[in-house]
Amino acid sequence: MVLGETLPPAGRYAPSPSGELHVGNLRTAVLAWLFARTTDRSFVIRMEDLDRTAVGADRRQLGDLTALGMDWVPPVVYQSTRLAAYQSAIDGLRDAGRTFECFCTRREIQEAPSAPHAPEGAYPGTCRELTDAERADRRAAGRPPAIRLRSDTPEFTVSDLLHGRYTGMVDDFVVQRNDGTPAYNLAVVVDDAAQGIDQVVRGADLLSSAPRQAYLATLLGHLPPVYAHVPMVLNAKRIRLSKRDGAVTLTDLAARGVTVAQVLSHIAQSLWLADPGEVVDLATLVERFRPDALPHDPWILTADEWE
Ligand code: GLU
Repeated sequence: MVLGETLPPAGRYAPSPSGELHVGNLRTAVLAWLFARTTDRSFVIRMEDLDRTAVGADRRQLGDLTALGMDWVPPVVYQSTRLAAYQSAIDGLRDAGRTFECFCTRREIQEAPSAPHAPEGAYPGTCRELTDAERADRRAAGRPPAIRLRSDTPEFTVSDLLHGRYTGMVDDFVVQRNDGTPAYNLAVVVDDAAQGIDQVVRGADLLSSAPRQAYLATLLGHLPPVYAHVPMVLNAKRIRLSKRDGAVTLTDLAARGVTVAQVLSHIAQSLWLADPGEVVDLATLVERFRPDALPHDPWILTADEWE
């Protein structure tokens, strides 16, 4: 049985609870909610907490999403509770001969000559054909292996509501890190399928990861989702917005007298869904939302925005 296909279709927002959400994250969350809501999908939140987390960040993030008017179908799924599901996917791939152990350090990968015809940045294949004896030697040297997918395609094509058909590289990417943690690229695919997610809306910085993830979905017996990689929010230097850019969270902005309603209004305006200064709520945005009329360029956010 393919689990995802028995569930009602859903969209999702999947923050990493490493700190407070900034305006760029909030804008992506609003878009994910709008895409789901206007296509009769349910909507879920998933906390991607396999990496660095900050205590209480999850609660603050959920509080901010609620303050913007978003709702979702509970429970909020935490990836840290799903380790058995990731392990079972990794075991299944291994049993099917679709993985290999990789002992390379990052430096060795960077310095290795790339495989003939391999795209730039692809794993060079160093450990792909190790013999049992070579693997035993490396293990004896004390370096724990990462697990990589044994990919049989150099590229894969996904369908994206903003980018059309997008073809990108698939290499022998890591599915389990050498400290035993499941890799993001694996966890995201396992969870999207398990939660019935057939529409993935997220920042354009992840567009180049989508072919790997969609390909892995097919290997695990799932239909890849349809994607919408939405434009990023950049700072005045045209660099991806981050918390270092000053007042960019709801808390910072509130301290400067900017209300949540004003933040939503600026987000809506940046998406061409509201006039300057117009107060809007999510219900109004649902009525106005048209995916094909969204801006395709990043939103450049400067401190002047809130003057
Ligand atoms: N957790 C990732 C992030 O916060 C998003 C992953 C995804 O949406 O697939 O950037």
